[in-house]
Amino acid sequence: MIYSLIIVICLVVFIFAGAFFAKKQYEQLILWLRRDATREEKPHLTGRWKEITDYVERLLKQRNQENQHTIDQLNKLLGAIQVSPNGVLLLDKDHKIEWCNDTAAKLFHLDRELDKQQYITNLIRMPEFVDYIESQQYQQPLKLTQGIDEKKLMLQLHPYDEGRLLLLVNDITQIERIEKMRRNFVADVSHEIRTPLAVLNGFIETMQNLPLSEEERSRYLDLMYQQGRRMQSLVSDLLTLARLEDSTPPPMDQWIASDAILDHTKNTVQELSAGHHTITIHADAKALIAGNESELISAVANIAVNAVRYTKEGGCIEISFLLVDGEGVFRVKDTGQGIPAQHIKNLTQRFYRIDKSRSRETGGTGLGLSIVKHVLSRHGGHLDIESVEGKGSIFSLLFPSQRIKNIN
Ligand code: ADP
Repeated sequence: MIYSLIIVICLVVFIFAGAFFAKKQYEQLILWLRRDATREEKPHLTGRWKEITDYVERLLKQRNQENQHTIDQLNKLLGAIQVSPNGVLLLDKDHKIEWCNDTAAKLFHLDRELDKQQYITNLIRMPEFVDYIESQQYQQPLKLTQGIDEKKLMLQLHPYDEGRLLLLVNDITQIERIEKMRRNFVADVSHEIRTPLAVLNGFIETMQNLPLSEEERSRYLDLMYQQGRRMQSLVSDLLTLARLEDSTPPPMDQWIASDAILDHTKNTVQELSAGHHTITIHADAKALIAGNESELISAVANIAVNAVRYTKEGGCIEISFLLVDGEGVFRVKDTGQGIPAQHIKNLTQRFYRIDKSRSRETGGTGLGLSIVKHVLSRHGGHLDIESVEGKGSIFSLLFPSQRIKNIN
């Protein structure tokens, strides 16, 4: 009897102890799960509880790895969008900023962190933009002019995910500038050709309709020839410019003697001046210049020819080559009409002339210094102009030391 009682008591104690132990393990498991089971060390449990803990731990690890993989992929994607030269901005359903890349922040002067969750229309307040976003018609892009520097922006909204908007923006200032330059250039060329063409047509009509003496005929033909020559020079200079823009960079292994360039220039200017100027040539140094021979000859000849054209009869023209701190310098000095200071910085622009009629009378196309500038920049050199109005000018073509071999 007493044995049975002891057995019953033992059993009860055993059951209670088991239940207590199970409850403890259960509480430890729940506590572990409630806290961050992925970070906290798992409890030391036994039996089934250990199996459950191990299983949960395995599942969580697997989920963690998957999450990490997704986060890595997302970060890579955002990283790629971040370095994109195009601006990208994500807007929520209320048009508040969710995310933007550095380019968009820079273009719209936004702070990537502080401006998050701000209404985009509070930050980009231009009426055209506000109208565009509210119109919900995003098939066409919108062009905006932004900030004091008048940046030209092209942007377009793309709806996604039921009401969210993707805003793509590009800085098109440079493209617009080039397009404007192209339009101006076409207009300038047409304008330059129109005048001699009209004159030429006028003479043709006169010759067709009026009886002319032999002397008049010959004078008219002379004038027609001049206009034809003017158009020919223009076309030839335009082709030279086009060739300079398209061709490969000048070689570094073809060497042209500075003396040969001076000789060429001397012949050209003497022929043009026909004894009306005092022309002197100095070879202060002798060197070889690496580059394109015909381009170098044409650049130096261009500034020397200008010296003749813009210097009155009796004036002096000095053409020299010298070495200054390793740089090769062709210098043309004249005692001509000089250039007012405010014009100097513009002289290398296409068709820029101070005195249009003087330029045309002397056969100028307004493209000579543009050609010179192009040749120099292709050879890594630069043009320096000093001038005093009424006294004369000094044009210097400077070539970098890497292209110069001193042979003194
Ligand atoms: P152009 O065919 O008109 O001479 P360029 O491009 O060679 O065109 O020169 C641009 C302008 O620079 C000229 O129209 C002229 O006004 C000015 N210029 C160039 N060289 C001289 C010079 N040596 N002296 C005075 N003005 C010059």
